[in-house]
Amino acid sequence: MTRGRAARRARAPRSSRPPVASARTRIAIFGGTFDPPHFGHLALAEWARVELGLDAVWFVPTGVPPHKRARESSASRHRLAMTRLAARGNPAFRVSPLECSRRGPSYTIDTVRALARAHPGAELHLLMGADTYATFAGWREPEAIVRAATLVVAARPGAAPEARGARPRAGARRVAGARVTWLANPGLDVSSSALRARAFSGRSLRYLVPDAVARYSERHRLYAAKRARTPAQGSRS
Ligand code: ATP
Repeated sequence: MTRGRAARRARAPRSSRPPVASARTRIAIFGGTFDPPHFGHLALAEWARVELGLDAVWFVPTGVPPHKRARESSASRHRLAMTRLAARGNPAFRVSPLECSRRGPSYTIDTVRALARAHPGAELHLLMGADTYATFAGWREPEAIVRAATLVVAARPGAAPEARGARPRAGARRVAGARVTWLANPGLDVSSSALRARAFSGRSLRYLVPDAVARYSERHRLYAAKRARTPAQGSRS
């Protein structure tokens, strides 16, 4: 930008600046419990950003997951804080407190509608691992979700073969009108539940989560002296 253009832009009143989202803006919504956020999440989000030419990936830590009792997860303020630390440094990564600040269970359809309202004209994508996709037909209003967003499904090591993205699960209910993009991402075999169990047994999370996330979880003793929890089942809906 020339110095003249920069000066004009700096003087421009806020309302005359171009809107953040235009018809060509491509946004992915990436929901999760993020307890803690790890390099599997970050690698997936970056892979999707590059492959799909996304302008932004919105990480949306879930508030009270509908199928999960709140006491099984770290408090949403901690998960939100860790997700912010994890996303720091990537200008395309954003973190939304939307679901954490909502009372009651988090439903993806509400989040999709809120982000669609906030970014009129944007092309929305909903990013998830193959294990999460396997539960999608059981979510609240899946038909409305797929009308608003393209599903982007990533390979995940350890997910059942039929859920790895090669083909839909046998007998799985298809959601009418779903547009699904399968990502051929390299799978990183890391999960939050395995990391919690690791931390609980006194092992380091270094090089599995960003350093700032490891420090935060240690400072707040999120995974110390707690019973290791089992993998979250159906944490999105
Ligand atoms: P937990 O082990 O507690 O169930 P998680 O590691 O699956 O946690 P979530 O926050 O539940 O993490 O996941 C958010 C989203 O990220 C889900 O759609 C999940 O499938 C996806 N995901 C998580 N880890 C990976 C990974 N290593 N590779 C690909 N996708 C992943």
